[in-house]
Amino acid sequence: MPVIGTRQSPIKLVTKDAMPLAKPDDVLRIEYKDKDYHGTFIGVHPSHGNFELDSPVKPNTYPSVSFQGNVFELRRIHIHFKSEHVIDSTVQRDCEVHLVHARQGMTLSDPKLVIGILYHESATTPAGKGLERFNDLLRKRATAGLSLRAFKATDSVPDGDINPLEFFPRSPDGKSPDITNWFHYEGSLTSEPYSEDVSWFVMKNESQIDPTKLEELEKYAEQEARPTHALDCRIVVRSF
Ligand SMILES: [Zn+2]
Repeated sequence: MPVIGTRQSPIKLVTKDAMPLAKPDDVLRIEYKDKDYHGTFIGVHPSHGNFELDSPVKPNTYPSVSFQGNVFELRRIHIHFKSEHVIDSTVQRDCEVHLVHARQGMTLSDPKLVIGILYHESATTPAGKGLERFNDLLRKRATAGLSLRAFKATDSVPDGDINPLEFFPRSPDGKSPDITNWFHYEGSLTSEPYSEDVSWFVMKNESQIDPTKLEELEKYAEQEARPTHALDCRIVVRSF
């Protein structure tokens, strides 16, 4: 049985209660390169439907972040419908993307770092197009008549390229991804085994998804949003 303690996720994030950091760069720097990375969609049960980045061959590397002086590598990406975290509200947003990182040289069974990005549907506001591209990759699979839920070993593995910076909200000029405005707290996985070994970063601002580009995503993501849990004695900090 999973052990559920007092450091569970998701939580409700409240700007006025979060402590601003004097030097947020000393805590987290997102150092992804602005380029495409190849990966494959891996099966849904018993966990999330995940897009798994290929293990890089030197001199290539995983997209990485620096967290308190340690390198964490982006290994998997998945989506929840509705959002799991809520920010300054009790209302869930349309979906939430999780960028799941493992510490360099370690596996996803070891302590993890997850970046959460909330999304709402918008037909007019352009965003980074990360989720739209995700959807198009899944559509290729759907039009080939293959299930988006039950991947079998005999299936040809659906694959494609993603640029993780495209998932982020846009900076006010609309040109670059906003990778510097975030909340941070210590929490857990939001699905089994709910292990309390996740350093969470949730972006302050939201991304947008074109509502006509959601169909395949909703079939594939499957993963429901977990309700929020109590903060208990934890502290939430923010970079802004
Ligand atoms: Zn997740």
